[in-house]
Amino acid sequence: MAEFSRRDFLKLGGAAFLGIAAGRFLPLDDEPNFTAPLIWHGSRKFRTIAFTYDDCYLLHRMQNLEALLNRFPSFQVTFFPVGAKILDLERQDPGLWNRLVERGHEIGYHTYDHVNIGVMSPAGAIKDFDKWQKTLNQVLGRDYPVRFVRPTYDIISYTLDVLCQERGLVAALFSIGGGGDPQVVVPAIKKSKGGDIVQMHIRSQDYLSSEQAFPWLLENDWELVTLSRLYDDYLKEKVNPKGCEHEFGSPLARACLD
Ligand SMILES: [Zn+2]
Repeated sequence: MAEFSRRDFLKLGGAAFLGIAAGRFLPLDDEPNFTAPLIWHGSRKFRTIAFTYDDCYLLHRMQNLEALLNRFPSFQVTFFPVGAKILDLERQDPGLWNRLVERGHEIGYHTYDHVNIGVMSPAGAIKDFDKWQKTLNQVLGRDYPVRFVRPTYDIISYTLDVLCQERGLVAALFSIGGGGDPQVVVPAIKKSKGGDIVQMHIRSQDYLSSEQAFPWLLENDWELVTLSRLYDDYLKEKVNPKGCEHEFGSPLARACLD
């Protein structure tokens, strides 16, 4: 990314630049055999955290989480539903996914039936993704630009790599993992670093952990952002190491960590 001057960045503008950057972006440190973009966390310079919720199996738990999120309108999160449940929950509660997207939340791929991507063939995984994408487009009534995949069972594999390259996806792992009971999870969240990605599921204990963590996060000036926002900030930091310079323009004027 070093070859991009600040002027180049300003000339290109946000969307165009990020499109190019995503294609050139190298994966982070410890997955040398994985060539597609892969993130464990975002920029450490911003006071932002990305909460992610996997699977999304049960309607009443999704509705409870939606109600909780509505109490924190500045907070945005990312859901990783399996395709079968996108359809099932939509049938039970028409408009659910559109309501979440309209509130600024993001949706990412987590396979159609929660199969381990590592045991699929690359062709099978691409087919599965396309089926999942078609289902999401169908319930939303429009083409939805999916950017992230949370691999099932958190397994990084050759097939995942090929899928990411073929469909332009970023593999999103996490830096605070698994969710669980509030007495374990909430203290971990209170020790968050900027750019952390938190993995949760749609489970009662993860709901309780979110319910207890959200007020603390708001009071302590943490911003809950989508993975897209986290990743875009990360890419911008690659161009401008300081990330939050004032003269660099308003899109980068984030609350910077010391
Ligand atoms: Zn899962």
